[in-house]
Amino acid sequence: TFDVSAPWLNRMIERKPRQLLNAVDGVSFEIERGKTLALVGESGCGKSTVARLMVGLYGPTRGGMQFDNQDAHAAFKTPEGRTLRRRIQMIFQDPYASLNPRWIVEDIIGEPLREHGILSEGPALKQRVGELLQSVGLSPLDMPKYPHQFSGGQRQRISIARALATQPEFLVCDEPTSALDVSVQAQVLNIMKDLQREQGLTYLFISHNLAVVRHVADQVGVMYLGRLVEVADKNMLFDNPQHPYTRMLLDAIPQMKHTGRSRTPVQGEVPNPLNPPTGCTFHPRCPHANARCKAERPPLQMLRGVKVACHAVEEGRI
Ligand code: SF4
Ligand code: MG
Repeated sequence: TFDVSAPWLNRMIERKPRQLLNAVDGVSFEIERGKTLALVGESGCGKSTVARLMVGLYGPTRGGMQFDNQDAHAAFKTPEGRTLRRRIQMIFQDPYASLNPRWIVEDIIGEPLREHGILSEGPALKQRVGELLQSVGLSPLDMPKYPHQFSGGQRQRISIARALATQPEFLVCDEPTSALDVSVQAQVLNIMKDLQREQGLTYLFISHNLAVVRHVADQVGVMYLGRLVEVADKNMLFDNPQHPYTRMLLDAIPQMKHTGRSRTPVQGEVPNPLNPPTGCTFHPRCPHANARCKAERPPLQMLRGVKVACHAVEEGRI
């Protein structure tokens, strides 16, 4: 497995006055090699922060993150950190923004190969870029083209080919299909699943879309205000959600049937993360909140076969 853990970390956010945000607070998870853990939650819950920290795009202001038993941010600063960067790659949400419009595809995909000293110029590089293009269903003939000559789905495939150039073990995918048309999403997800199977890749898949999560994940972690509130096998989570927030998210999806519960929209708004509620931070939105919930923060613990942070589950009230 890969162990990822950020017991807590803060980030300074650019506001006036500058404020310290408790970006991640009690996030730690394991991902079995070759499997997919999806992190879900509403925007502002910290899931993209986790993604960016993992590839060193962000550094924490305070606190830190461990990846596979090493301090990721200390490692990123050292020469050996290059190895870690090589092992973890990221696919971004927006293929329009993440590809340099002035570069041809050969240079876009070849760049990580040169940067990591894997291959320099010449026929070997061309050959490898061609193979990478083929692995995502594109052609070596696409090498001299510019990003604008491709559709959105094709551009995301170029991003995937670039991410795979260093032969990573671990891919952080931040909403990789949410900028694409629905008809194209499944294609890209299926390519990602095929690549995972062929290359034994491990995915951390960030998404707010539970239908997508259901399609790709083996395990699901639900985040709320910088904390994991439930971690479960996909089928357990969808068939028998425990945390009231998970239940609320699932109940808001029209196409998923939940026998025995009526469908209700997600209620309330995510509180300001700079000033989180006391106790269980979900209590202002929770139909099961009581005095203990307002005072005491529930730990993430193993209950009913899943990891869940909720007093009501622990007490058997729900
Ligand atoms: Fe709701 Fe209390 Fe559980 Fe928090 S701890 S989710 S407020 S019941
Ligand atoms: Mg995001």
